[in-house]
Amino acid sequence: METRVLKGKPVADTIKNEIIQSVSRLKEKGITPGLAAVLVGDDPASQLYVGMKTRTCEELGMHSEMVRLPGEASTDQLLDTVDRLNRDDRIDGILVQLPLPDQIDETLILNAVLPEKDVDGLHPVNVGRLVQGDFILAPCTPMGIMEMLKLEQIPIKGAEAVIVGRSNIVGKPMALLLLHQHATVTLCHSRTRDLASVCRRADILIAAVGRPALLTREYYKEGAVIIDVGTNRLTSKDTVIDLFGEDSPRVESFERRGSALVGDVHPRDPYGIAAAVTPVPGGVGPLTIAHLMKNTLLACEARRG
Ligand code: NDP
Repeated sequence: METRVLKGKPVADTIKNEIIQSVSRLKEKGITPGLAAVLVGDDPASQLYVGMKTRTCEELGMHSEMVRLPGEASTDQLLDTVDRLNRDDRIDGILVQLPLPDQIDETLILNAVLPEKDVDGLHPVNVGRLVQGDFILAPCTPMGIMEMLKLEQIPIKGAEAVIVGRSNIVGKPMALLLLHQHATVTLCHSRTRDLASVCRRADILIAAVGRPALLTREYYKEGAVIIDVGTNRLTSKDTVIDLFGEDSPRVESFERRGSALVGDVHPRDPYGIAAAVTPVPGGVGPLTIAHLMKNTLLACEARRG
């Protein structure tokens, strides 16, 4: 079987082009959608993600603001920042970059963001609306994946969907979104018995685990569509060779960079067995940022459009 590679960039570009048009319509009415990203501390990965998000905002003609707090900031300081952004009419979306330092009460902070500005879709009000199937703002990664399944014309109605990973940000909302589209959904986690045989039922298999190359070929049936959310950094050359093969360009790029990314799905196994698979990197990653922009636009339209 020929395996289709589902790249994220064309889907992300489609989403972004729609946003550019909507933003220019809003600007004619004097409204510019705005996103504020709050970054606590100086974790390099978080800085990179926040930088990408604010840059994309600007590319799409939206207003963006980065608010930085020191790594030793208190819960109260962060609450004050969120409160200021809640009251700022130019800001439609507030994104608090996770993870937060240990001294900060993460739940308290996420619950302090106004539900109508909660572009990560993590406020209990938005989670409740998602459960009910009547929502505007839902977590960006699963929403981006739904957009990809739609644009790639992957049938969902009646399909067996198996999701590995039950986090609030990926696994659980993914399950609800697929359920609303009439898939038969199974949500797996670290205590699932005989994970491989459960996964083999899947027409659509979604991996959001955070374990490098966990899902090997005994985890999927022929013709499955595999969406790999995992983003795992490898720092051992032997592991890179073992997973990608000695002749792979990934070995050369590992030597230049000192690390390589791999998903939760074994990078070579699906080819010839699966109907389609998302690569890592270049699969799900671009969808997440594109959908964050879409959520900012939706939040703006709902609040003042
Ligand atoms: P979490 O760590 O919050 O959740 C991981 C889930 O995987 C948990 O539910 C855990 O089960 C389950 N799990 C762990 N080990 C196993 C195992 N051996 N067998 C079965 N289930 C297991 O991760 P996230 O959901 O935040 O992220 C998952 C991955 O996706 C990460 O690699 C992350 O970097 C990536 N990611 C990528 C994004 C992108 O845009 N590309 C966006 C978001 C995440 P239990 O609940 O029982 O502990």
